[in-house]
Amino acid sequence: MNFDLTPEQDQLRDAVRALGRRYGHSYFVEKAKSGGHTTELWDEAGRLGYLGVNVPTEYGGGGGGLTELAIVCEELAAAGCPLLLLVVSPAIAATVINRHGTDEQRKRFLPGFADGSLKVVFAITEPEAGSNFHRLGTVARRDGDDWLLSGRKCYISGVDEAQYVLVVARTEDAATGKLKPALFVVPTDAAGLTRSKLDMEIVSPENQFLLYLDDVRLPADALVGGSLDAGLPALFAGLNPERITVAAMGVGTGRYAIERATDYTATRKVWGGRSIGAHQGVAHPLAHAAVQVELARLMIHKAATLYDAGRDLEAGVAGNMAKYAAGEAAALAVDTAVQALGGAGMTTEYGVATLLGAVRAGRIAPVSREMILNFVAQHVLGQEKSY
Ligand SMILES: Cc1cc2nc3c(=O)[nH]c(=O)nc-3n(C[C@H](O)[C@H](O)[C@H](O)COP(=O)(O)OP(=O)(O)OC[C@H]3O[C@@H](n4cnc5c(N)ncnc54)[C@H](O)[C@@H]3O)c2cc1C
Repeated sequence: MNFDLTPEQDQLRDAVRALGRRYGHSYFVEKAKSGGHTTELWDEAGRLGYLGVNVPTEYGGGGGGLTELAIVCEELAAAGCPLLLLVVSPAIAATVINRHGTDEQRKRFLPGFADGSLKVVFAITEPEAGSNFHRLGTVARRDGDDWLLSGRKCYISGVDEAQYVLVVARTEDAATGKLKPALFVVPTDAAGLTRSKLDMEIVSPENQFLLYLDDVRLPADALVGGSLDAGLPALFAGLNPERITVAAMGVGTGRYAIERATDYTATRKVWGGRSIGAHQGVAHPLAHAAVQVELARLMIHKAATLYDAGRDLEAGVAGNMAKYAAGEAAALAVDTAVQALGGAGMTTEYGVATLLGAVRAGRIAPVSREMILNFVAQHVLGQEKSY
């Protein structure tokens, strides 16, 4: 058992931390509140190779794995810049294309993932289907060599920043009635694809959208893997990277909040000479949150290590547990930090309450805590499925 990062991973952590701190949480909040995007940070991280750490070297990437990408997600979040698009573009989309794309799709897309110049977002959630992706209603129909896509998607992050959206559809003629998913790389400016921005109570430079697909015409090579049989494995390929990187963002956010709070409580004095951090009523909740964050961090390390060793099924269990633990720990850490800061906790200036919406959403998306508990109950504890 080894809990140490390699020297290269350590260097990556230090370098990403330094980059994140140069921008910091006030940059993130300023972009969010002005309706802007964190383009400068994204582009610089891309140029430095941090967004392509998990892309194979033959396509210009770093040749690392999910461990490296999780480090990037955690450290940017720990600097106050939790970039949600890291979860959809390099983690989900790049992995799906790398593992299940055709050779042509790899050559076409992976170099852009490697340097961050390409952003591909991910659309699975639908208004009627919700957590039950077996009910997906977005349909792909053949029309000669082309495909026509129709349906609706909701809460899709970052469509306004991306060149493509990876859409999960189902094929029309699924004889069994069971989901036969197919993934399509759809240009965000495709005719028939429209969007409307959702008003969300999250301070974030990334926006969520409703997407409407009205007979969006796509060439045959938009189908990931070039064959309908590639759909299900391609969809599952995105799940572990999604859970592990979103967990890493949660842990980074938790670390950030605890650091902000403890810097404050160590120096704030309202009862004479002692800091408020000397009071256990203040310090113990912070210490408890720090324990939860560190436990989640260990689970992420385990999940990413299993994934990088090609042990996908075990990584699935660990990744789900890591996502659950990190989602809970991040929400606890931010809430505890707000409390420890008192009134300052609710100001924009102290940069903690600005994360309340994001960490709350982290218990719902990309997979809710209840659906993870369902997974663990069934696949780890052998319980009957209730739905
Ligand atoms: C900020 C944000 C960003 C997002 N970005 C994206 C994106 O980029 N792409 C994308 O495709 N989606 C995205 N989503 C959607 C997200 O993945 C879904 O919101 C999530 O999967 C839950 O689906 P739902 O909202 O339809 O909830 P529902 O499925 O309607 O569930 C509502 C509640 O019921 C619970 N529930 C449902 N079924 C069960 C059950 N069987 N047992 C126990 N409890 C159950 C759920 O856990 C939840 O608490 C995003 C969401 C948010 C909030």
